[in-house]
Formats: sequence, C-alpha cells, structure tokens
Amino acid sequence: MAAPSAFPTPLVMRLLAASVSVSYKAGNIIRDILKTGDLGIIEKGKNDLQTEADRAAQRCIVATLHKQFPKVAIFGEESLDPTEKIPDDYIVKDLDPGVLSHPCPEGYKDVTDDQVVIWVDPLDGTAEFTQGLLDHVTVLIGVAVNGEARGGVIYQPYYNYEAGPDADLGRCIWGLVGLGSFGFIPGTPPADKNLITTTRSHSDWIITEAVNSCEPTDIIRVGGAGHKVLLLLEGKVHAYVFASKGCKKWDTCAPEAVLHAIGGRLTDILGNPILYHANVQRQNAGGVLATLQKHQWYVDKIPQEIKDNFVSDKPSEEMLEKKRLLASMKFQSGDAGSSVDPPEFSQGDYSKASKCSDKTKL
Ligand code: AMP
Ligand code: MG
Ligand code: MG
Repeated sequence: MAAPSAFPTPLVMRLLAASVSVSYKAGNIIRDILKTGDLGIIEKGKNDLQTEADRAAQRCIVATLHKQFPKVAIFGEESLDPTEKIPDDYIVKDLDPGVLSHPCPEGYKDVTDDQVVIWVDPLDGTAEFTQGLLDHVTVLIGVAVNGEARGGVIYQPYYNYEAGPDADLGRCIWGLVGLGSFGFIPGTPPADKNLITTTRSHSDWIITEAVNSCEPTDIIRVGGAGHKVLLLLEGKVHAYVFASKGCKKWDTCAPEAVLHAIGGRLTDILGNPILYHANVQRQNAGGVLATLQKHQWYVDKIPQEIKDNFVSDKPSEEMLEKKRLLASMKFQSGDAGSSVDPPEFSQGDYSKASKCSDKTKL
C-alpha cells in the first residue's frame, strides 16, 4: 500500500474533483429519465419548469457532495423533500483523477470548509430540455470561495447529440481561477461582427432594449446560462447580455468561474461582481453580463435608464472586513495579494440590495 502523502490534497481540488465525477453521473441520470419518455413536469412558477431529471440530478449531486464534504454549505436550485431516500448508486465516491493531476494554485491551499459555498443547478435550460433543444442543457456546479466564483463544472449531457445514434454523448468542462479551464477548444469570435447571445424563453422588452443598445450584428437566442457561457468560451459569441433578475446564483457561479479562469468576465449589468456567500440574495438582481473581452465597453453601452432598474449584490460583513484587513496589509507591505482576494466593489448603491431569501434549499 502506498504511504499516505505528507501533503493532503487541498479542499478546493477535492471539491472540484468530486464535482467533475458526480457531473458525469448526473448526466447519465438526465439521459436515462429522458429515455423513459415521462418527464414528470411541474410548474414551479410563471415560465419556470421542473422535471424529474432536475429533481433526480440534484438529489445525486447534493447527496454526493454532502456525503464527502459534510461541513460545506451546498445550495441547490430545487426545493426537495430532505427525508426522501436517495438510491445508493446516486452517491458517487470517485474523485476525478484529471482534476487531481493538476497542482493546487497557491492561493487555495489553506481554504477551509467555512470559506466555501457550492451552488448547484442540476439542469440548466429546463424549458429547452422539455422542447427537445437538448444541447442547451447543462449541469452546473459552482465552487465559491470567500463569496467569489472560483471553481466551476459545466457538464453538457447532450453534446454531440446531432451526430447520430452511435455518437458518444456528453462532455465535461471545468475550471479554476488561477489554474485555467479544461475540456473544450477555446475560440475567438469574428472580429468584423458583434454577436450577442441572450435568453430564448424569458425575454421581455427591457432585455431586448439592453441587447440592442450593445449594437449587435446578430442576436443568438438560446437557452441556459451554462450554454450561453459555452458559446463565449468557444468564441461563438462576443457577449452574453441579460438585463433581467431571472437568473440565480446557481445559474452563474460555475459559468463565471470557468469563464474567469480563461480571462473572461461575468458581472451584473452595472459591471459589479456577482457575489456567492451563503447569505447573499439568490436572485441575480443586477442582471448578467458576460464577455471574453471589452467588458467595460458593453457595460458602458447599456443605458443608465436600464441600469436604474437593477441592484448589485451586497457584500457580507466578513467580505468587507477581509477587504479592510487586506487593504491595511497591502498598505503596510506593498503585497499584491493572493488569487482569492475578495472582489473589488467599484460602484453601485449596495444599500438598495434586497434582503436575501430565507428559502435555503438543500
Ligand atoms: P435563459 O437564458 O432564459 O435560459 O435563463 C437562464 C437561467 O435563468 C435558466 O435557469 C432559467 O430558468 C433562469 N431564468 C431566467 N429568467 C427567468 C425567469 N424570468 N423566471 C425563472 N427563471 C429564469
Ligand atoms: Mg438554470
Ligand atoms: Mg435548473
């Protein structure tokens, strides 16, 4: 038997490795449920569906991560009965060796359970899933450290589904800020165009106005926050513009981390960071704006009259305290700080941010 390593694998790397492994299982569960032909659709609210695939994938992901990391806070999109029996084979025990083969970036080595929050969207793009637009569907597992999106898994269960019945389905994209993103071929969008992606199934006039103000040459309306960020990663669009409060933390945490890890940005439409600490409001009440390049250009293009309808996230007291501490340390030592610094709060009136929802879901 090999001797135990003197340096145990840091929490963030184990969390990501477990998240990658369980995302494959969640993808299998989603595909199996679709094959039964009975999606068990429930209407959670206006234009907001849930299927048995959403429910089962969340049970699998949350139960697995909770079993392996019992002290870490995990928030899943779906409200489920916590007493429900989880099938034994839903608990994935593996840690993905591909993730573990990477060195842990310095800034994460000492991260502890209480600094981490996991945001789970077991099936992003449910409306499109029920309509057979299968490549719009993703499984999203985001790892937030000190309230910032740092690690993410985007599993696309129907990648390749149009290639015919014998094609291998599914792919897993993951990333960690400071390490990079893996599982896709990065691309650059055409320089002579301005391709903007936005919602397909939740549109309204303000969303359309915001997109139009960014001077698109083409508008690509597709489902899912995960899928839209995949379009950015692969260079198929220049920006994802969503002037709506409809997206939640589980929609953006994983995509933001994966995008950020290759140098892109995902913020609210005011250009402020979206925050992911445990008691933040679940809604992205500032909307969503994601780009690989020229982020500020898009922020500036969105008219103030539109921005006035949106509210940025409010940092937690701990985040503000950490920031004050860091600022005083920098002042004393000229230190550039680590890769898990709390975010900059550049603008916006945080006092207007709505109270966070007390509907904690597990
Ligand atoms: P979309 O781009 O419309 O596919 O939305 C991305 C994610 O945000 C999906 O998980 C949607 O369910 C969610 N979402 C966006 N707008 C709304 C809304 N008005 N009501 C409920 N969920 C929404
Ligand atoms: Mg979603
Ligand atoms: Mg969902």
